[in-house]
Amino acid sequence: GKGNWKGFDERDLLLTYNALKVLEARYLLKDPNTLRYIETPQMMFRRVAKHLANVERQYGRSESEVKQLEEKFYKIMSELKFLPNTPTLMNSGTRLGILSACFVIPVRDSMITPNGEGIYDALRAMAVVHQQGGGTGFDFSELRPKGDIVASTAGVASGPVSFMRIFDVSTDVVKQGGKRRGANMGVMHVWHPDIEEFIKSKTGQLKDTQLQNFNISVGVYDYFMQAVERGDVVPLINPRKTKIADWDYYMSKARGYMNEEWIQEVILSELEEKGGTVDLAESKIITIDEALVIAEKENAITQWVNARNLFDEIVKGAWDSGDPGLLFIDTINRRHPVWYLGKINATNPCGEEPLLPWESCNLGSINLEKFVVDGKIDWDGLAETIRYAVRLLDNVIDANRYPLKQIEEATKKTRKVGLGVMGLARMLIKLGIPYDSVDAVYLSYQLAKFIYYHAFKESIEIAKEKGSFPAYDAKLYKDIWESAKDFYEILEIMGIKDKPSDYVKKLTSIVDKLDFDKLKEDRIKYGLRNATVVSVAPTGTISIIAGTSSSIEPLFALAFIRNVAVGKFMEIDPLFLDYLRKYELDNPEVVKKIAETGMIGDNPFMPKSMRKVFRTAHEVSPEYHLLHQAAWQQWNDSGTSKTINLRSEEPPETVERVYMLAWKLGIKGVTVYRDKSKSQQVIYFGIKK
Ligand code: ADP
Repeated sequence: GKGNWKGFDERDLLLTYNALKVLEARYLLKDPNTLRYIETPQMMFRRVAKHLANVERQYGRSESEVKQLEEKFYKIMSELKFLPNTPTLMNSGTRLGILSACFVIPVRDSMITPNGEGIYDALRAMAVVHQQGGGTGFDFSELRPKGDIVASTAGVASGPVSFMRIFDVSTDVVKQGGKRRGANMGVMHVWHPDIEEFIKSKTGQLKDTQLQNFNISVGVYDYFMQAVERGDVVPLINPRKTKIADWDYYMSKARGYMNEEWIQEVILSELEEKGGTVDLAESKIITIDEALVIAEKENAITQWVNARNLFDEIVKGAWDSGDPGLLFIDTINRRHPVWYLGKINATNPCGEEPLLPWESCNLGSINLEKFVVDGKIDWDGLAETIRYAVRLLDNVIDANRYPLKQIEEATKKTRKVGLGVMGLARMLIKLGIPYDSVDAVYLSYQLAKFIYYHAFKESIEIAKEKGSFPAYDAKLYKDIWESAKDFYEILEIMGIKDKPSDYVKKLTSIVDKLDFDKLKEDRIKYGLRNATVVSVAPTGTISIIAGTSSSIEPLFALAFIRNVAVGKFMEIDPLFLDYLRKYELDNPEVVKKIAETGMIGDNPFMPKSMRKVFRTAHEVSPEYHLLHQAAWQQWNDSGTSKTINLRSEEPPETVERVYMLAWKLGIKGVTVYRDKSKSQQVIYFGIKK
């Protein structure tokens, strides 16, 4: 008699075994004294929906409107069409108040500073954020290099990497609400004198021992990548000797984040406010060479190094251990819609959120698999889910309890949210499109465009009701679609001659009718609620809850062992099992055999059509990994997190090619992971290691 059982809901039947395991281990609330569960999965979705709908009361919505919205929020979550990021699921309506996953914390070159931005201020901020389940990113480039002087103690500085080790240990010690350990992104820009030590800080003998709670990335610039291509030298700069803000300012101007017109507008409006006069000489765009002359004068250049050698070190490290990745600082800033608020130097741990100092961002992802209906895409259903998802994410900003006032201020100024996706691989399988095909990349491109359009549109709608984000400037705001690369340009960069088929063009033709000019008009007329609206996150855990493939990644393996905090799971992909059944291949001997490698790519006993559609992460070439990332990045005002998976036998040259192409494709950040390159990895292929 399930009907009589209070709290039971058939929607629980949508949850897979693994979803239930993860939920019970970490998400469902327990009584702190008896440790008994006090909620079911449906009660969890209800708790989140209620908490986030309640925000609308602040905006004068009636009781019934709030209730209606709660139902909508509940529906999209419980149907597993959309899930917010982990902290929102865990903490909504509880004592712990952090609902966002992503934070960037500044680190200035001082132990502590009056405004709380010194090294130990950052450490404290990190601990508070980790305790409640957030992930943190830092740019350590402002710290003076190892061996540099410390005036106050007449000593020598120990350098950024040694300070990073303290952050790492603290991360080990602070367990998040007792549920998971923190994660960090450590960034160092390529001009820092300690860059070589940084590049090697997680490779070779150190790869399984040092900075284990960090992903590390080198912040590179166009001038650096060009120098690599030409084999030129580049300067290393001591940040203590030049005012870093000035160096950044000159360099930013030199590289054209701020074109002359914009600078003039900014200066003009500033002066207008102050009632001053205009000195356009101030707004001159200087070249990199001119910037270097200034650095030279300040005696800030410590050394000239060969860019090619530095790049080789980066490549070697990444090939050996997956670290460092690259962040393309110029691309990030050039495509930052609110560029006029300052320069972005770092991202959150997985790279999907390039953020200004102290900003936080909350994420949520749409389960694409749910929108395949009878071999077609349910575009209307998708658009509707996007609308409620954006509203839910915007409400998270108001429902959030911020651990520090700087975080609250920065976050509320821009109100960034990040709507992403999961289940792309499974959507493709359901449509019969191989992941490594031009059609699949075309579908990615069109989906990204559709999602961006509707998310942006909803943000305008919310602005009509509730106002724009406070730092919104109708004139300065940069519409990122104006710099999106065309689909065919992406193919050209990769040297691919194939074209998308009529089938996939027809499948996505609705996207070609979207009117972005009108969207811009509306933005200017009505404003915009969120400085950014989308972001492609890894969906490491929420994709398990949704029972789908993670983010925009291909299937990892058709059968594999998953190691998570709560134990080991043997998994067989259910879609794959369906196919096996269809071909009457679902006997235990066959399945066991497949599970040994996790793939069927060169299994001559498998039907050819199946072998094409069920290509896994290591069978897909690095080029196709990059193509998907590039497609999603074009229609994304934040970042696109993606792992370029490589087979263990790939040579370092592959990493080099991937890193270069990523830059050319307009990707904001890139990471590779070569199979078996670390002793600890979350997922192993098949049964045999
Ligand atoms: P989820 O599926 O749990 O919502 P994702 O795998 O999509 O999370 O990761 C999104 C972001 O959440 C990461 O980029 C990072 O900022 C944060 N995050 C993920 N895992 C952790 C962790 N163990 N500790 C702290 N932050 C994390």
